Amino acid sequence: MSALIPAAAAQAVLLSVVFLTGAAIGSFLNVVIYRLPRRESLVRPRSRCLSCGESLGFVDLIPVLSYIVLGGRCRHCRRRYSPRYMLVELASGLAALGAWHLFGPTLHALLAFVAFSCLTVVFCIDLDHLIIPDEAVLIIAGCGVLLDLMDLLQRGRAAAVVFDERLSAGLQYHVMLPKSLVGMVVGAGLFWAIAVIAERVFRRPGMGLGDVKLAAGMGAVLGPGYQFLAYFLVAVVIGAVVGLVCMVLGRCGRGDYIPFGPMMAVAGLAMIYFGDVVTPWVMSRFLAA
Ligand SMILES: [Zn+2]
Repeated sequence: MSALIPAAAAQAVLLSVVFLTGAAIGSFLNVVIYRLPRRESLVRPRSRCLSCGESLGFVDLIPVLSYIVLGGRCRHCRRRYSPRYMLVELASGLAALGAWHLFGPTLHALLAFVAFSCLTVVFCIDLDHLIIPDEAVLIIAGCGVLLDLMDLLQRGRAAAVVFDERLSAGLQYHVMLPKSLVGMVVGAGLFWAIAVIAERVFRRPGMGLGDVKLAAGMGAVLGPGYQFLAYFLVAVVIGAVVGLVCMVLGRCGRGDYIPFGPMMAVAGLAMIYFGDVVTPWVMSRFLAA
C-alpha cells in the first residue's frame, strides 16, 4: 500500500507536467493564430494587451489558470478577452494528455501532438481570415512523411503502396511507393477535382486552394486508403451539419461562404487520435448503405 501511494503520486505529477506543457504550447498557439496571418514575428515583441498595450507578465500568462482567476479580463484595463484563448490552451493540454495516453512516450505521440497544434492553428485562422497558412500544412505533411518513414523501417514492403502486375513471364513489374507520397497526390487530386466540379455546378468558388493543400497534407498523414476516405466523409458530414445549423439559426444564408478548413481540421484530429476506431465505424455505415 505504501509503495502504491508514491507510484500514484508520481503518475499524477507526470500527467500534470504533460498537461501543463501542452497548455503552455497552446498559449504559444494563440500567439501564432493572432500574428501569423498578420505576418508579425512570433517571438517579438512580448505579449501585450491588445486594448491598453500594457505588457503581460507571468501572472497574466499562466495557461488556463490566469484566464479563470482574472475572470477573462485584462488585469490593467479590465477589457474582456475572448474565451477562445483559454479554450485553445485547455484543448492543447488535453491533446497532450491524449497523445501520451494513446501512444505512450513515443515519437508517434509527439507527431500526433504537432499535427494537433497545426490543425488548431488552421481551425482558428481559417475561421478568422478565410486562409489556411502554408506553414501549418507543410508541418502536417512533414509529420505524415516521418510517420510513414518509421512505418516503412518497421514493416518494410507491407507499409508501402505496391503496384504489382504480371502480363506474362517476361512481362511483369512491381512498383513500391511510400504511402505518404501517394496519399498526398490522391488527397490533393480528390479535393481539387471537387473544387473544379463545384465551381462549374454552382458557378462560384466553393473550395479554396488552401483546402486542396490541406487535403494533400492530411493525405500524407492518412495515406490513400480507407483512412483518407473516412476522413473526407467525416469532414463533409460535419460541414453539412454546421451549414444546416447556421441556416436554421439564421446566422448565414444560402449563398454565404462557410470555410471548410475548420471542418477538415476537426475531422483530421478525429482521425489522428481515433482513426483506428473512426475508420471502421464510418466505412461500415457508408458501405452498408
Ligand atoms: Zn488591457
